[in-house]
Amino acid sequence: MRQPAVRAACHRALEARERLLKDYPRWEDWRAQAQAIKAEAISQLDEMLARLQRQVEAWGGQVFMARDGAAAREYILDTARRHQVRAVVKSKSMTTEELALNPFLTDAGLQVAETDLGEFIVQLAGHPPAHLTAPAMHLDRRRIAAIFQERLGEACAPEPEPLTRLAARHLRLLYREAHMGITGVNFAAAAEGTLVLLENEGNLRLTACLPRVHLAVMGLEKVIPALAQVEVFLRLLPASATGQRLTALVHFIRGLKPHPGGRQAFHLVLLDNGRRQLAQEPELLEALYCLRCGACLNVCPVFQVGSAHLYRRVYPGAIGILLAPYLAPRGDVSDLCTQCGACQEICPVKILLAEKIIQARRRSARHRPWRFFSRAAGLGLAWPRIYRRLEPGLRLLPRLPFKSREFLGIALSSHSFHKCVGKKGEPGNREKG
Ligand code: SF4
Repeated sequence: MRQPAVRAACHRALEARERLLKDYPRWEDWRAQAQAIKAEAISQLDEMLARLQRQVEAWGGQVFMARDGAAAREYILDTARRHQVRAVVKSKSMTTEELALNPFLTDAGLQVAETDLGEFIVQLAGHPPAHLTAPAMHLDRRRIAAIFQERLGEACAPEPEPLTRLAARHLRLLYREAHMGITGVNFAAAAEGTLVLLENEGNLRLTACLPRVHLAVMGLEKVIPALAQVEVFLRLLPASATGQRLTALVHFIRGLKPHPGGRQAFHLVLLDNGRRQLAQEPELLEALYCLRCGACLNVCPVFQVGSAHLYRRVYPGAIGILLAPYLAPRGDVSDLCTQCGACQEICPVKILLAEKIIQARRRSARHRPWRFFSRAAGLGLAWPRIYRRLEPGLRLLPRLPFKSREFLGIALSSHSFHKCVGKKGEPGNREKG
């Protein structure tokens, strides 16, 4: 793990975002607008999804509602077998990472190739993605050149352009052989049945158009009421992810694409995998508003130390903490937060991430003993006389094993956050740190 590479990449993305936001005086209005659209969609999730399904089927697509990952994987494999698919190309999709789709299809005898440059690199390296939008951010160009030499058998100058050209040459061959293209979906407009997909590299277009079958996988929460509402997201998402005004390409899919010998087959997999349960949680359902822009990761001091690999989950950072107890395989990583609150300041859909993490911690069995320490630390900090008496003991803390220090540190930081936000956690009360 190269921490400097991760930190530098996070800072570059944040600086680009800051520069762009100077030209966006209505940024806060857009955030509020986007949040309202997402809230509307999630509050009527079942109707929205039923409408989306009707519309997509009306233009010839086939829709499958997958209750969990196993059902989604089986449907995808069954579809591949029905269409006699042997080779699959994929564009970047965190939902398929959630399904662990690549190893599943490979074990079933299919050849699976990632075509997004970052995903291509981590697939060759055998690493999981390090970030929601920048999967290879933990690798610098020299390491990437070494991986290419080892896995592709070609030496290459460790510079962005030759490395990209080398990858493109290999990818071209894969497109030619592929029978099925698998993509994600950024937004799905229920009223029209239009799918909106964003990308920068052009690989998504080839993945969706060249093979004779296109299969798109989306989490239920990607649905929005109508296409007219997508505009605000087209501004917020690239600005928050990479500081771009717009992504290089925006695809609108509503109809079967022509293909030699007729029309391409299209399948849409709508993945639940715990999302419906989360939608029933009034305190935490905001997590379903997430656009997967990754801005909350870039700004997170914990993420910058170890990237997504630190969390050992598909979705890292503040949003990953909120999704972990719901999205299978379920987990609890609520300790991986310092409560600095930077994530909720930056989130383009105004998810109150830090405050929701406090709520997640209240429900966490792992956090029960920590709450005791948090209260004890609170007492010490509130009464200087007690604190002074404890001070000699506190000086011994650095000698404790790392795990114990981490444990106490989180308890103290958690207490400080409560002091700042007040009991109800009103954002207006929080001091900027
Ligand atoms: S929680 Fe907000 S900032 Fe984080 S990835 Fe989702 S939309 Fe982006």
